[in-house]
Amino acid sequence: MTPESKSIVDIHQACLQKLHHLHWKENGIEVYMLRIDRIHPVISGNKWFKLKYHLKAVVNESKKGILTFGGAWSNHILAVAHVCNILQIESVGVIRGEQPATFSPTLLEAQQAGMRLIFIPRAEFSDLSVYEKFSTEFNHLHLVPEGAADEMGIKGAEDIMKIADVNHFSHIMTAAGTGTMSAGILRKLNSTQQLLVISALKFPDQHNNSLTRLLGAQQTSGTYQLLFNYHFGGYAKYNHELIRIMNDTYGLHQIPTDFIYTAKMFYGFLDLVNSNYFMDGSKVLLVHSGGLQGNRSLSERLTYQFEETPKA
Ligand SMILES: *Cc1c(COP(=O)(O)O)cnc(C)c1O
Repeated sequence: MTPESKSIVDIHQACLQKLHHLHWKENGIEVYMLRIDRIHPVISGNKWFKLKYHLKAVVNESKKGILTFGGAWSNHILAVAHVCNILQIESVGVIRGEQPATFSPTLLEAQQAGMRLIFIPRAEFSDLSVYEKFSTEFNHLHLVPEGAADEMGIKGAEDIMKIADVNHFSHIMTAAGTGTMSAGILRKLNSTQQLLVISALKFPDQHNNSLTRLLGAQQTSGTYQLLFNYHFGGYAKYNHELIRIMNDTYGLHQIPTDFIYTAKMFYGFLDLVNSNYFMDGSKVLLVHSGGLQGNRSLSERLTYQFEETPKA
């Protein structure tokens, strides 16, 4: 088994797409999107980058597969299931919450890809000893923490900055859950660049939380700002305004977004433009981190017009 990135995802699909808008042009702002969502329909965007060094570890540690953790709609769980299926190695997903009567499309698909699913109550899941317990039970598997939120995940995310020439951008924008991807990108900034991180999670304390601690611990030549005002009520919360932005973004730029991360980032970007945050001459790079499969959990009452998964 050789986890060659080439054969699993198509990195060359990750283009820089220029976005056009008269208002931005008039304000002297250039806007590009880095479409890492396009490298694979489900091993989507940042999930691939956060996994790539873990896959090397599977080989180096002579493990038989991957043990990982996540929720019922998790992009990470599905990405692991698909990667392991392609490589024909074992995968076990420990899922937060009691086993549901009917599986979410995400869980069904993960199971069909060969992942063994184990359900544990929420209270047990949040206990840190859960990793220890399962890694003992499955010691033939390599453990990847939820969201690949560790040093290997950050190192993989650094490589996002290598797929295109991004040196001339003044601002780079990301959406954050664990902040792993943003930490990797932050490390790679040059001294003229600022990272703007939109939190998809609501934190009671905006000055001391997992994101402020993680980003604060990174070495970088650049600067960053964490923005906590665009979570729409919290993780996976949304309203009609957000759905409208998603439809507009698709209609105007042919860019599908997911309601959990990338739509909130785009909303944050539009709001920053409207509040004149970006000076004349700014070059903004929006990182499209993928995650489109998660739109399957959207309420059917709210219509979004684009395809669920981009064409590979
Ligand atoms: C998982 C995910 C994120 C969050 O990544 P972190 O490294 O946990 O911050 C952002 N965008 C998309 C589309 C994701 O699927």
